[in-house]
Amino acid sequence: MKVINEFKCTFPAVSANEALARSALSAFLIPADPTAQELADLRTVISEAVTNAIVHGYRNATGNVSVCLRMLPDRMLYIKISDKGCGIPDIPQAMQPLYTSAPEEERAGLGFAIMQEFTDDLRVRSTPDHGTTLIMRRQLRQIHAEE
Ligand code: ATP
Ligand code: MG
Repeated sequence: MKVINEFKCTFPAVSANEALARSALSAFLIPADPTAQELADLRTVISEAVTNAIVHGYRNATGNVSVCLRMLPDRMLYIKISDKGCGIPDIPQAMQPLYTSAPEEERAGLGFAIMQEFTDDLRVRSTPDHGTTLIMRRQLRQIHAEE
């Protein structure tokens, strides 16, 4: 897979770093000149993924969250978020809209639905007690020569 640009970072799973992840993504996208909509969508996507790693993955533990951003040919954005937390026992159930394992925290269970809505492809790999990896792709708008 040809990679036009790539950014990787790893940070502790604390909520202060959700903003860091959003900012890193925004900065990574600057050369691609995203639309306001693309930027808003993708900032939401990375927030949902990183928040899940922090609040669910490391619910009873500390650890790191890793982010890998890639710009692939033809303006395809690739986002990988991984944690080494508790893992997801039942991925189809977890991905169902409105499913949450933390209703007492007033979570809506919409994170996965939002990530799915705002990306073109979402893959989840998870092993209980080993962690979770999300890989998402989003096609950015095509830029024509006359622009
Ligand atoms: P919301 O995102 O609306 O605040 P939520 O986080 O519960 O609520 P989703 O983001 O859709 O909803 O996630 C659904 C469920 O999947 C979570 O409640 C949790 O049980 C599980 N989950 C998601 N990400 C992870 C993760 N990285 N590690 C472990 N479990 C996860
Ligand atoms: Mg969530």
